[in-house]
Amino acid sequence: MDQLALHGGTPVRSEILPYGRQWIDEEDIQAVIEVLRSDWLTTGPSVARFEEAFASLCQTPHAIAVSSGTAALHTAMFAAGAGEGDEVIVPTMTFAATANCALYQGASPVFADVDPATLLIDPDSVENLITNRTRAVITVDYTGHPCDYDRFRSICDQHDLILIDDASHSVGALYRGRPTGSLADLSTFSFHPVKHITGGEGGMITTDRDDYAEAMKKFRNHNIDSVFQQRAREGTWYYEVVDLGFNYRFTDIQSALASSQLTRLPAWLKRRREIAETYTEAFRELDAVHPLTVSPEVEHAWHLFVIRLDLDRLTVDRGEVFRALRAEGIGVNVHYIPVHLHPYYRERLGTAPGLCPIAEEAYERILSLPLYPKMSDRDIEDVVTAVAKVTAAFRR
Ligand SMILES: *Cc1c(COP(=O)(O)O)cnc(C)c1O
Repeated sequence: MDQLALHGGTPVRSEILPYGRQWIDEEDIQAVIEVLRSDWLTTGPSVARFEEAFASLCQTPHAIAVSSGTAALHTAMFAAGAGEGDEVIVPTMTFAATANCALYQGASPVFADVDPATLLIDPDSVENLITNRTRAVITVDYTGHPCDYDRFRSICDQHDLILIDDASHSVGALYRGRPTGSLADLSTFSFHPVKHITGGEGGMITTDRDDYAEAMKKFRNHNIDSVFQQRAREGTWYYEVVDLGFNYRFTDIQSALASSQLTRLPAWLKRRREIAETYTEAFRELDAVHPLTVSPEVEHAWHLFVIRLDLDRLTVDRGEVFRALRAEGIGVNVHYIPVHLHPYYRERLGTAPGLCPIAEEAYERILSLPLYPKMSDRDIEDVVTAVAKVTAAFRR
């Protein structure tokens, strides 16, 4: 057997393959240059065009662009009316921003556990956490797999809660034939470079509610009433700040890039699915490596490919497998440290280990493998070779 690079052997790759990466082509560059030569730099006609294209992709009436996925979540919390005294149920297996948006509005995040097969927020756990202070539920389509929205819809309707989909991972995914962005009262997206399409930074909220859309357009622009703003443009100085707002504006420069990227989303999703299929097929041979379960009801968007290690079959822990794969040149990562385990939430909210046992156990075993459309077939092969090499070397 080949010696591990970690122990002085030859690595599978000499240069590290990242877990995710953007793909910028000449068309993207030209689109940005065009905006730089135009009259508008910040929120203008290019943002409006991007919002329209995005709403159409999501088959929903409204898409409101903001400066980041985190800003999108905060804006959605504002639209949902979450505030002091309210509780917002979120999965613990997510990025911290999903929980922070509740805190930004003075509400409290309440952490739900996840389903052991998919690591998606568990509807039974959500139901057990509902109190008379619960205002909203934020589901996260972890790895790009939509949650069970028919079930969440019925839970939220029954308890009069607002359903928010943090769809940062799942642009272009389908649940029972319906696209993400149309599955909840409010859905949020991120255009960070590691996500499906990028604007450098950026975010989006989609909704079918006219009142939410109006409120969010004000919120992203200091909560200035846009009707008055319009009037100001037409020659009067008067405008009104109607509530506390923020500067969460998306720019025409960013949306030119993001619009250009959006045209390639279908091809990129296809490539992501191909890569995921290759991994899934290859790992059938490895009994210490288990990909997450995929429901037949969804078309997965494959932001992440997460494997779970069977530690009973290995002589080392996840940390050592992580280091061994990095040494082989494979840029693995871990998504995520359960949010409730971070020191900030422990101190502020009193959370502790034991609160979400399924997520905590999964966290000790998961690794995210490189997955992005620009990966070559050779890159994919290297990942498979390295995972096989490392798990064989550490096989009990
Ligand atoms: C990326 C991400 C965010 C935050 O998006 P930013 O654009 O980085 O602010 C929020 N939630 C999830 C699940 C994410 O993956």
